[in-house]
Amino acid sequence: MAERKPIESWLTDMDGVLIHEGVPIPGADAFIKKLRESGKPFLVLTNNSIYTPRDLHARLRRMGLDVPVENIWTSALATAQFLGDQRPDGTAYVIGEAGLTTALHDIGYVLTDHEPDYVVLGETRTYSFEAMTQAVRLINKGARFICTNPDETGPSAEGPLPATGAVAALITKATGKKPYFAGKPNPLMMRTGLNTLGAHSETSAMIGDRMDTDVLAGMEAGMQTFLVLTGLTGPDQVENYPYRPSKVVDSIADLVDWI
Ligand SMILES: [Mg+2]
Repeated sequence: MAERKPIESWLTDMDGVLIHEGVPIPGADAFIKKLRESGKPFLVLTNNSIYTPRDLHARLRRMGLDVPVENIWTSALATAQFLGDQRPDGTAYVIGEAGLTTALHDIGYVLTDHEPDYVVLGETRTYSFEAMTQAVRLINKGARFICTNPDETGPSAEGPLPATGAVAALITKATGKKPYFAGKPNPLMMRTGLNTLGAHSETSAMIGDRMDTDVLAGMEAGMQTFLVLTGLTGPDQVENYPYRPSKVVDSIADLVDWI
C-alpha cells in the first residue's frame, strides 16, 4: 500500500468526539489548543443545523473549548454552499432555525413561500403541521426538496427526539419526492468543508465516532479517517462494516501527538 502523505489539515466531528452531552471529552481541549498553535487548517463539523457557527462557538466556549467561528462547519453551511453553487441567488421555503436561515441569507438567498426554487428542511424543535403542509404543497408544485441531514433522531437529556430525517420521511410519504441530503454521510459535507479551507483530501484527515457517517463520508471524500471510541461505535462493531477507518483510537486524547 502506498504511504499516506503527512496530514496537513483536520476535520473533526463534534458530538462524541470533542463533547458528549454538554461536557468536553478529556483531551478535546488539548487537541483544539494544539491545532490552533500549529496553524494547520481545521474544521469542527456537526450535522446539526439548528445553530449558527457563532452560537456553537459560544456553546463550546462555555464548555471550555475555544473554537473560532470560522472553524465551525455545519450541515446548514454545507447546504447553503451547495445551493449557492447549484442555483446562485435562488429562493427557498425553509423549515428550520437560525443556523439554516442565516446560512441561506448569507449566500444571497431569498426566503419565501411564493414559488420557491427549493424547499429546504433543517432541524427544529417546533415542527409545525402548517409548515409541513406548506412544504408538501410547494414540492408538489415543483419546488426541489433539499434536507440538511438524514439523522432520524437526535439526542436530548430526556431521550431521543425525532429529527430531520424523520420529518423528511413524512414529507416524502406525502409527496412521493425524496430529498437530497447535504450533511453526513454525504461526502459533500467534507468536500465543501475542504473547499472552504482550501485543503486537499489526500493530505486531510477526518475524525469521527460513527462508522456509518463520519468514517464513511471521510473515506468517500478521499481522506484518512480516525475512529474514536468515545461516542456511538464500540470496538467490537468496527468489523461489522465492509470498510474500515485508517486507524481506531480510544479517544481524541490519543490524536494530540498526531498534529
Ligand atoms: Mg458524532
